[in-house]
Amino acid sequence: MRHANGPTIFDGHNDVLLKLYRSGQASAAERFLNGDEGAIDLPSAKSGGLGGGFFAVFVPSPMDADDKFAEMTKDTYDLALPDAINWEDAFPIVMSQAAILFDLEKQGGLCVCRTANEIRSCLNAGKIAAIFHIEGAEAIDPDLNTLEVLYRAGLRSLGPVWSRDTIFGHGVPFRYPSTPDIGPGLTDHGLRLVKRCNDLGIMIDLSHLNEAGFWDVARYSTKPLVATHSNVHAICPHSRNLTDKQLEAIAESDGMVGLNFAAAFLRPDGKMLSDVPLELMIRHLDHLIESLGEDRVGFGSDYDGAVVPEVLKSSADLPKLRAAMQRHGYDDDLMTKLCHGNWLRVLERTWGS
Ligand SMILES: [Zn+2]
Repeated sequence: MRHANGPTIFDGHNDVLLKLYRSGQASAAERFLNGDEGAIDLPSAKSGGLGGGFFAVFVPSPMDADDKFAEMTKDTYDLALPDAINWEDAFPIVMSQAAILFDLEKQGGLCVCRTANEIRSCLNAGKIAAIFHIEGAEAIDPDLNTLEVLYRAGLRSLGPVWSRDTIFGHGVPFRYPSTPDIGPGLTDHGLRLVKRCNDLGIMIDLSHLNEAGFWDVARYSTKPLVATHSNVHAICPHSRNLTDKQLEAIAESDGMVGLNFAAAFLRPDGKMLSDVPLELMIRHLDHLIESLGEDRVGFGSDYDGAVVPEVLKSSADLPKLRAAMQRHGYDDDLMTKLCHGNWLRVLERTWGS
């Protein structure tokens, strides 16, 4: 599980499926296999040593991501949350994006993994290892029938909310500066969702939940607490980031956090602007390691879903990140943990074997 310049990176969050869905399902596999303009495709992943990660299925709101990111370059901002999306509208979009994921597998672009051992053998064989993840549970019905069926189709990770409200809970709006303590926690449906995910072996993703929802999951879930793509609130006081108290709870549960590359959650000024030095990412990593310990930190790039540091524009640039970590003094053992070992450990504990 090594690339020429260090350990293979297994990553907690990407929006490749949304990108491919938006630019046309028919040619999706071809663009993934042969390369396109975005941050992740097969050639760039191979050249940068990206071994795979969580492939998010996400139902977009009508609001344009470019407008949202433009608003997030101001000194302070508080974006209105988009309206909730009905099950009837969400379900076909989730099916389309999941179908793209399985088509990528059929065409030999990746393997959809259902156990930690499958991820390990996939990484060892040099194939892209993908986890089927859904970001925002709009396509799950209150009786959880769709959850059962999606689990059998390979779903292994779920965020009860993206920042929009769902029948399960309330997300955190994009607000800077702000604590994540905005709005009420999980609904009764949300508490049942947590229990069923625990029973089935679906990881619950805390990124995008507000603080009340976070503490509800912390109380009700029997599994390690995981935020797949969130950063340090003490460095960047954004509503999407985790406070030291939340980090403490994640450490106590033996869970983990994936470092988000999105500029607005890295920069102390909260701006979605790409001039971000690698040293700032290392500062977040150091803080996470200090709070959580070496075994509970990894990556969650948000590639193809956010404005990322110019220097790491594509997964082909990941060798620069590894080099910065090595220069900073992270030894081989720690590098392996951060790059993929910790994700494998926590997934094994969450899913069982
Ligand atoms: Zn996200």
